[in-house]
Amino acid sequence: DYDLRIGIFGAGGVGKSSITIKFTHNMFIEEYDPNVEDEYTKEIELNDKKILLKVLDTTYPQEIYDPFPRWVEYSQVFVLIYSIIDKYSFDEILNYHNYSIKKIRKDYPKILIGNKSDLTMKREISIKQGKELARNLNCKYIETSAKTGENINQLFYESSLLAFEE
Ligand code: GDP
Ligand code: MG
Repeated sequence: DYDLRIGIFGAGGVGKSSITIKFTHNMFIEEYDPNVEDEYTKEIELNDKKILLKVLDTTYPQEIYDPFPRWVEYSQVFVLIYSIIDKYSFDEILNYHNYSIKKIRKDYPKILIGNKSDLTMKREISIKQGKELARNLNCKYIETSAKTGENINQLFYESSLLAFEE
């Protein structure tokens, strides 16, 4: 049997907890405590193997220039999330990458997520901008909605594949 560990990263309010809970418990919670850091598990099937997927829902670091080695060591794959209605969270992705994770691991498997795709009227970051950032980071880009469930399974499927290949 396999364990795969996925770390969920991104600025406060982008939907890290919502995405994690939607996937593991199929629920959408309007208000979730932003200060709770927790590990969730779900059994999935991948390449005909039963796999226990462990998902670490992190909280936003107080100080991004102070990397959190525990998280970085835990994660086999990094899910970098911003909100398509929040430019600040989009800019924070590169800060995370450059000043936090990359300080500890030069090269690491990752996937870029633009969440809240249901809120198209409030969009601040275009699909093109998302794709461009993904190209710079050399990873895949997916837009998701924890509210409607759009591409949530896809996100974890792609992440599991990356972890599996590690
Ligand atoms: P976190 O701080 O990154 O863990 O963000 P949360 O999961 O706590 O979500 C912050 C807020 O955004 C909550 O009010 C959620 O209900 C809301 N939210 C999260 N994902 C989505 C989404 O895909 N669509 C919409 N409309 N709201 C979302
Ligand atoms: Mg949270």
